[in-house]
Amino acid sequence: MVHARNPRERFETPSTKLTVPMEIRVEVYERVKLLRQKGLSYSKIRQVLSEKYGFAPSKSLISEWLRGIHHPLGSANRFVAEPIPELAYVIGVKFGDGSINRKGYNRRIRLQSVDHEFVVEFDRCVSVILRSKRHALWSDNKRREIHVEARSVLLFNFLRQSFGDLRGWVEHCRQCVSAFLRGFFDSEGSVSKQGRLTAWNNDTALLGYVRGLLSKYFVIETTGPHLGKIKGSKIERRGRSYVRNSDSYHIYVRSNSIEKFIKYVGFTIERKSKRLEVASKSNCLLCN
Ligand SMILES: [Zn+2]
Repeated sequence: MVHARNPRERFETPSTKLTVPMEIRVEVYERVKLLRQKGLSYSKIRQVLSEKYGFAPSKSLISEWLRGIHHPLGSANRFVAEPIPELAYVIGVKFGDGSINRKGYNRRIRLQSVDHEFVVEFDRCVSVILRSKRHALWSDNKRREIHVEARSVLLFNFLRQSFGDLRGWVEHCRQCVSAFLRGFFDSEGSVSKQGRLTAWNNDTALLGYVRGLLSKYFVIETTGPHLGKIKGSKIERRGRSYVRNSDSYHIYVRSNSIEKFIKYVGFTIERKSKRLEVASKSNCLLCN
């Protein structure tokens, strides 16, 4: 089949040619999908849109949108999910520090962290899965954080799913499981000065899932989830204080599993990684 060179020009109005801004194209596209789900015919969809916007996409454009042949954003934000470790890593981060949000018509996937190498690795993975150039990082000197942000409606919608829905991508193979766990621990993991390795989150089901993966794929022993910090308690972070808005739980990686954790999962973040190396060596001294 032959695709029209620029499908977005096929919006029809009384005065034929019309350039529709990107935000409106995305809005119309989402409306088309919704109306079709409700069972409306192409003609009816066009009628509803004409009444609302004063124009409507052609029937052939509607058909291509619905069959996934074209997306209103063109190729700039194209994302086709493939089971690769980079995707698993981004999913792991998303369930931790990473955030996805919408502002107006923008769909953003963002990360902010004090650890430069964490933000760099996240950006590398996002760029691989979006097949895009690397994004510019910027630093918030006041909070001593590095930020990165990518925009993609499709990746946004993909990451909005629950961890239950994303299981198949996470558990594609051991390498993907390992990347997911590394992303999660880069976000939520903590190594105390005494070498205790924990991961914190307010979702006990998610923590249970992480425990299951550690045990099933790498025979890494953990305990928990344990209730750690209670809702309403204070958080002190780099000189600022916040009030916790939900209970916080953690899982604990047993000291006899630290070496396996380093070998099969590990941290991207150097300061966590170094502490863990020290802890594993002191554990070995105790064992011997
Ligand atoms: Zn895989």
